[in-house]
Amino acid sequence: MTNRRNFLKTAAFASAAMALNSFKGKPEEVNDFPSKKGTKPIVLSTWNFGIQANAAAWEILKNNGRALDAVEAGVKIPEGDPTERSVGYGGRPDRDGRVTLDACIMDENSNIGSVGCLEFIKHPIAVARAVMEKTPHVMLVGNGALQFALSQGFVKENLLVADSEREWREWLKTSQYKPIANIENHDTIGMIALDANGNLSGACTTSGMAFKMHGRLGDSPIIGAGLYVDNEIGAATATGHGEEVIRISGCHLVVELMRQGKSPQKACEEAVARIVKLTKNRNKNLKDIQVGFIALNKKGEYGSYCVQGGFNYAVHDATGNRLVDADYFLK
Ligand code: ASP
Repeated sequence: MTNRRNFLKTAAFASAAMALNSFKGKPEEVNDFPSKKGTKPIVLSTWNFGIQANAAAWEILKNNGRALDAVEAGVKIPEGDPTERSVGYGGRPDRDGRVTLDACIMDENSNIGSVGCLEFIKHPIAVARAVMEKTPHVMLVGNGALQFALSQGFVKENLLVADSEREWREWLKTSQYKPIANIENHDTIGMIALDANGNLSGACTTSGMAFKMHGRLGDSPIIGAGLYVDNEIGAATATGHGEEVIRISGCHLVVELMRQGKSPQKACEEAVARIVKLTKNRNKNLKDIQVGFIALNKKGEYGSYCVQGGFNYAVHDATGNRLVDADYFLK
């Protein structure tokens, strides 16, 4: 965690300096890095907390388990870790000091479940799965999501840890909401997996942007934005500024591009290019934005792309568990 932060700070200063000259207004020109080839079963997840999460998912995948069970078990690792301050228990609060969590899950049969702005429950991904499996709906938010969780036996807990509370009280002195790419305090674990039977599933969970307005939802609980799975084609998940991912229906776009024959890598690059283009059209500054996508297809090929440097992701298949630096647009 600390390592990632330090790395990101360094990368952010370097890329912020370079970014001033780097955006020349040709967002449609994406690079064409090759996709990487993995072997089935395989699991990918965002950021370096994905290493531990992948290890938990792998325990299920290596025994011919279902991708859905693997992704749920995997993302529960950072959700339950109070030192991971951007996911689940220990996550940073909103501007009112409330820890509100977003999560969604999707299986190989296009079953979906999601919770948004859920308080007091350590594992929102498990509640999202319960929404998927036990309700006629696909999304529950706020108090309704909490009431449902309690009815299912989930336990109400205080999720605000001392470090997060201290940071929030410090933030209150200025109360300025100014997320800066790569040095802001938010992350998401998005995980996508292809199991030994060739089935895909995904999970995505976060505490969202620190000090956000109460009630703000990002991309992470929105199927099609923060996560999408199509068992005929592939899967994708996202991290970064949720508003930008929602604007392009990011992960659905990535999967649709793969359906059109694009490689996972190329599909991620084109989705980032779309963000670049819209940012330019809206006269916003690209260097203030970070979004990263990871994608996996039915063949076990995978790729990733992000707006600017500093994003990495973890990959686990039979050849081992490794951290990969994502390629990026702003040089
Ligand atoms: N995508 C998350 C959100 O917007 C945050 C992140 O991944 O950094 O809530």
